[in-house]
Amino acid sequence: MGAVRAEHRLAGCNPEWREHFSDSIASESWSEALLPVVTTLLEGGRLDLQHGLLMYNHPDLPELGRLAHLAKEARYGRRAFFNHNVHINPTNVCALACRFCAFRRSKRQDDAYAFSTEAYVEDLGRYADHVTEVHSVGGLHPDWDVTTYESMFAAAKAAFPHVSIKALTAVEVKHLAKQSDLSVEETLERLFDAGLDQLPGGGAEILDDGVRAAICNGKESSQEYLDIHATVHQLGHVSNCTMLFGTVETLEQRVIHMLRLREVADRTGGFQCFVPYPFLPDDTRLPEAQLATGAEVLRTIAVSRLMLDSIPHIKAYRMNVGDGLGELALRFGADDIDGTVHKESIMHLAGSTAPLDADKRRMSRLIEDAGAEPWERNSDYTTFTRFVPPPVPKRRGLTMATE
Ligand code: SF4
Repeated sequence: MGAVRAEHRLAGCNPEWREHFSDSIASESWSEALLPVVTTLLEGGRLDLQHGLLMYNHPDLPELGRLAHLAKEARYGRRAFFNHNVHINPTNVCALACRFCAFRRSKRQDDAYAFSTEAYVEDLGRYADHVTEVHSVGGLHPDWDVTTYESMFAAAKAAFPHVSIKALTAVEVKHLAKQSDLSVEETLERLFDAGLDQLPGGGAEILDDGVRAAICNGKESSQEYLDIHATVHQLGHVSNCTMLFGTVETLEQRVIHMLRLREVADRTGGFQCFVPYPFLPDDTRLPEAQLATGAEVLRTIAVSRLMLDSIPHIKAYRMNVGDGLGELALRFGADDIDGTVHKESIMHLAGSTAPLDADKRRMSRLIEDAGAEPWERNSDYTTFTRFVPPPVPKRRGLTMATE
């Protein structure tokens, strides 16, 4: 078995970020209430469940954001990342019916669809000149097995070798393994051989089997999610991880979720990016969901940056949190706002109003207005290019704050 390479483990981080972080913590003053967290970090220690709960309940959100931002700056300085990507969902037909999902359809519904290999490649071809990554997740189609995706990935790679394929959530991999009568490892090996590059993090929801039974009954268990990602890493590939919050979970379950991901990251070094996103309720079936406020989104970004020290990147996923909050999150510990996207269905069907087809200039404006430098990255965070936008027209005489 292979292992995740050193450049993937660092993923653009300053290797001495811990010393930088300690120095910057020591140079600022902190409230009494946050001291248990600050002192632990200053001494190079790791945060535990109690620290996580303290941060979730800390009354001074800007102070928590300041601490998380120092951690981000220690790793990346003023850099903030985006990429040029497109989302293509091969099918919305799904054997499951997660209560938070506005995307899935049964086979018989009028707007159910399932791409052929040709349709998948043709759709990607509309964007391929402009993107470096295709993100493809979808339903658990009852008639599809591993050969369906082998065919799609091989054809896409042959046609557009410069496009990195980030595809299939853990539950899709489990479904394909079962459909094909293969182990998860064999299934992943075949998919990687066909052209798959890495896995996205979708489907983690909350890694608590009680919560999963309430919101996504029938999905893979918490442990299966972790095991499938660990197998990806052991095969020498990287993946992302996520957290869907604001449904029925407790704060404690959110922190335990982060700790479980951290434990895998410690062991494998294969999680590149953590993507926390709040539940969006449109066209879903979860009326008891508590929903998350904007402040809670920013707090969760900050808590995750501080808890997840072995996961290099924290992404404010603009398709879900929106451009405004995504921009602010870059001051609360996030270092990445995802990409130009071009096309997205899953979050928009659930209520997202984030603009699609954002060009690089717009992405860079979001980043610069948050006081950061825009850097375009590739799909697996191994190459970075400073993006210098062409001059923008003067903004109607408004004076913008700069650093
Ligand atoms: S979240 Fe995924 S697995 Fe669940 S119903 Fe939607 S498409 Fe199916």
